[in-house]
Amino acid sequence: MQAPLEISRPAMLRRGNSRVLRNNGSNYKAVRKSAKQISCVSSPAAPTTDRLFNFSAGPACLPIDVLQEAQEDLINWKGSGMSVMEMSHRGKDFISIADKAEADLRALMGIPDNYKVLFLQGGASTQFASIPLNFTTAEDTVDYIQTGSWGSKAIKEAQKYVNVNVAATDKPNNFTNIPAQSEWELSSGAKYLHFCANETIQGVEFKYTPEVGVPLIADFSSNFLSKPVDVSKYGMIYAGVQKNLGPAGCTVVIVRDDLLGNSRPECPAMLDYAIMAENDSMYNTPPCFSIYMCGLVLDKLLKMGGLSEVEKNNKAKAAVIYDAISGSDGYYNCPVNDAVRSCMNIPFTMADSDLEKEFIATAAENGLVQLKGHRSVGGMRASVYNAMPMEGAEKLAKFMKEFQSNHS
Ligand SMILES: *Cc1c(COP(=O)(O)O)cnc(C)c1O
Repeated sequence: MQAPLEISRPAMLRRGNSRVLRNNGSNYKAVRKSAKQISCVSSPAAPTTDRLFNFSAGPACLPIDVLQEAQEDLINWKGSGMSVMEMSHRGKDFISIADKAEADLRALMGIPDNYKVLFLQGGASTQFASIPLNFTTAEDTVDYIQTGSWGSKAIKEAQKYVNVNVAATDKPNNFTNIPAQSEWELSSGAKYLHFCANETIQGVEFKYTPEVGVPLIADFSSNFLSKPVDVSKYGMIYAGVQKNLGPAGCTVVIVRDDLLGNSRPECPAMLDYAIMAENDSMYNTPPCFSIYMCGLVLDKLLKMGGLSEVEKNNKAKAAVIYDAISGSDGYYNCPVNDAVRSCMNIPFTMADSDLEKEFIATAAENGLVQLKGHRSVGGMRASVYNAMPMEGAEKLAKFMKEFQSNHS
């Protein structure tokens, strides 16, 4: 058991980061030497100094203390004699993990009792189909607001099942704004209104909760738990956890219970929210390890003081990077309208786009990785989810300024 662990660390370092300067300034050779000395058995929580600042949009960075806690408990969870990965999902140990995760999520978000909390699989993308299959008939009409790539995918999927009215779109402006609610062309008798609370690729975020007369359904995948949200204003909130909560594999659905029980006869059981609710998300084997990891993060967020505190940190982090952009005299640009700039995903370009490749490569050499923009929009993107420390945002801002002065 010992040998593979000892081999895997240097191998991992070698694969990705051969030219990377570490966060602590030491060079690769020194890091590799120290990594070689690390025995995962004698020093389970050791190798943190060689971690990079990971600006990936998802799967994204996780809090280091959460990873360390998982590492400590990986092989023998709380004296149970086995890993969480090996437990029966119906045994008391795992049930206690799942129950605590749900209770902590309810406490963090202030979820009212008449809402079900589901831990599902299939990602946010599966909900794009589940939503019309649960809440509509083929004759119904639903309203969608199109503010970017994810909202567009939700629309495309829903169109297979129901009449979709795109009540507003910012496509003509390349998704750099959110059309004002006064301009939305809502249909009469729509079963629900769907919007994407934060467009991960374009960096466009709703800063208010729309007020419409029908149930609101929102994709919160990339800003879930980044700020307080009044759940009672929604019919349903959903999020793939791999952006802001835990490792890929679990999707959280929070749904008002009076909306359940109207699924179509052909709706697969696995996509039926009422069936999942009746079975406490254990109609089949749930994504146990992902739920466990989410639970560790939820516990941490509560101990940090809850979502107002989280939001404060997130606003401060995002401001550091937006300030670096706006203070660059046009050297860097963010295409998104000021009023709707995302606190989580910050896309930016350079006036001289020929330099972007070099920017991304040099940043990586300095331990700032995954800054390449989505292939559909180009440029750069810094994702600064809850787990990105302020130190990472500050280091990126400093790097941006240095890169600019080195090139002018
Ligand atoms: C990542 C993302 C998705 C897709 O999530 P999967 O879990 O990969 O299906 C959907 N919506 C938003 C806003 C996202 O950021």
